[in-house]
Amino acid sequence: MAASSQDVASSWAREDLASLQARGLRRYLEPLESPQGPVVRVGGETLVNFSSNDYLGLAASPSVRAAAIAAVERHGVGTGASRLVMGDTSAHHRLEARLMAFERAEAVLLFNSGYAANTGILPALVGSGDAVFSDALNHASLVDGCRLSRARVVVYPHADVDALAKALAETPGRRKLVVTDTVFSMDGDVAPLRDIVDVCRAHGAALMVDEAHATGVLGARGAGLCEELGLEGQVDLRMGTLSKALGGQGAYVATSRVVADLLISRARPFIFSTALPAALCAAAEAAVDAVETDSDLRPRLWRNIRRFSDGLRAMGLRAEPRSAVFPVVLGEPERALDAARRLREAGVLVKAIRPPTVPEGTSRLRFCLSAAHTVGHVDLALESLRRVGVHARGA
Ligand SMILES: *Cc1c(COP(=O)(O)O)cnc(C)c1O
Repeated sequence: MAASSQDVASSWAREDLASLQARGLRRYLEPLESPQGPVVRVGGETLVNFSSNDYLGLAASPSVRAAAIAAVERHGVGTGASRLVMGDTSAHHRLEARLMAFERAEAVLLFNSGYAANTGILPALVGSGDAVFSDALNHASLVDGCRLSRARVVVYPHADVDALAKALAETPGRRKLVVTDTVFSMDGDVAPLRDIVDVCRAHGAALMVDEAHATGVLGARGAGLCEELGLEGQVDLRMGTLSKALGGQGAYVATSRVVADLLISRARPFIFSTALPAALCAAAEAAVDAVETDSDLRPRLWRNIRRFSDGLRAMGLRAEPRSAVFPVVLGEPERALDAARRLREAGVLVKAIRPPTVPEGTSRLRFCLSAAHTVGHVDLALESLRRVGVHARGA
């Protein structure tokens, strides 16, 4: 009897899973038994959580929850269609207007996720005959957006502006687009954005930045690195997420009206995917309100960032207080998994990050700080790291 097609796929999966397992690269799900927050219940244990991107503790905050609930009552849950068909609501337009003011942008367009934004925007702007220049440590969604665009992709060494300038000068292309994270998601460092802006201008290239880990974290008003550096008007496309510091789901791009109009007609994840639920738009609006009006939120986050950074340095680890993300690079996957296991026994939840999320040989613990952490939580993480005797690679 011939094997069913189900058996064929299952045999492929068994083979590939065994290989992942042998290399310490298999991944497992682990459901939360509590709301998102600085302290969570998982696997029957109560742990202090250092692996969420909920940097301001807004994911379960009362004002954000209330806004989502009110929007469900008003609009229902599902949007029923893409925005271009029947899924467009007043909540989407209100949020876009709110984000235009927050980002000081002529136009803002929402996407269903940061992943959808990045894989949609790049192919809408460039194609074959064009060239994209992408930082070596850019997020996977930008990498995939580059691949989908069919433009020639030039990966320049991480944060190396001279190499970028050289590549821009030497690479032919009808259109040239430079794309970079502003805060790098697995390292927490910051792109040399002023210099990148200058190099783009010198070469007539457009610039797109991904502020996923900067929105709500950097800048005097919390609008990101472009705001911090006063570069809002000099970056063609500024992508931000609603899913990290803003505590919800979805993403947006702040750009010119004409670019937003092109994306509406051409970005495939915008056109061919059901609109973001109105509840998530309303939740994001409440989160932006909190970022702008709660004068305590970002100071609390930055107090924690500085305390953690000082503590890591006191242990001889490399650390810069530049964002809420702190890697402790350990090397091989098993070392990171083992360190995560031992920290967990001390009550600290921090996930091991392994390839392909990070380059081979740089598996790490990645600590994410939140405004919702207490000083005691931060000190527990530091004390546990000390006790577990984590020795970073190269430290
Ligand atoms: C998380 C992340 C994304 C994806 O955003 P989602 O809303 O989670 O899909 C994109 N870019 C960067 C740099 C990220 O860290």
